[in-house]
Amino acid sequence: MFLTDESSVGIIGAGPAGISAAANLLAISKITVFEQASSIGGTWRYSDDPNVEHATSMYKNLKIDVPKESMGFPDYPFEKQGDPSFIDHEEVLKYLVKYAEMSKVLPHIKFNSKVISISRTGDGKSKVVTNQNDSFLFDFMIVANGHYTVPYTPEQFKECPFQGEIIHSHYYRRPESFVGKHVTGMIYLSYKAECAFLMVISSVSHIAYVT
Ligand SMILES: Cc1cc2nc3c(=O)[nH]c(=O)nc-3n(C[C@H](O)[C@H](O)[C@H](O)COP(=O)(O)OP(=O)(O)OC[C@H]3O[C@@H](n4cnc5c(N)ncnc54)[C@H](O)[C@@H]3O)c2cc1C
Repeated sequence: MFLTDESSVGIIGAGPAGISAAANLLAISKITVFEQASSIGGTWRYSDDPNVEHATSMYKNLKIDVPKESMGFPDYPFEKQGDPSFIDHEEVLKYLVKYAEMSKVLPHIKFNSKVISISRTGDGKSKVVTNQNDSFLFDFMIVANGHYTVPYTPEQFKECPFQGEIIHSHYYRRPESFVGKHVTGMIYLSYKAECAFLMVISSVSHIAYVT
């Protein structure tokens, strides 16, 4: 099956990958984007409370670890070349919102709409069902649901004899709660995110790293 201007494409997620896919497919097909949260941005949506619904792993003092000159979409570079390259997460979210507005994908996004199943019909289409009990048929699907929504805690930490507080980096927000404490960073899998937040905490506490 080939993509034509009659093709319908379902896209799961309105983070950077989903809105970029939507922006590029809009001119050549009929698209629908499903986003479980009430706004776009994916990981770049910050919430001060890590326990609210659809909270991401974004933390208060995060600056990007890839220069903005390398991080923008090819058809929409970050503004103000020459200003600091390592910008705050708020700037990234503003950039993504502007990109979605400029590329006219916003009217095609169904917010508060979580995809709960996809199945194949007899004629080869994909049937999508959402948490609102709506169902849709598509010729093609793009899954852009991200990697970092659900924190993974290895089993050995769940029954750990350590008496102090153990948190997953997903729940970290601000360094203030670590003032004067001894902190050990157990770095598993996503090395760069944990390293960056331990560097922020190290300004207010004693840090040891274990990788
Ligand atoms: C702390 C942290 C710092 C980072 N720093 C950088 C950086 O400096 N530079 C960089 O390039 N990258 C960085 N990243 C990587 C970051 O994940 C990517 O920049 C980018 O956000 C990935 O985009 P995505 O669209 O694939 O996924 P996400 O941004 O995770 O977006 C996925 C979207 O899908 C939605 N979704 C998920 N499941 C469903 C469903 N079933 N139905 C409907 N919607 C659904 C989610 O609500 C979300 O909006 C960082 C990540 C983290 C966690």
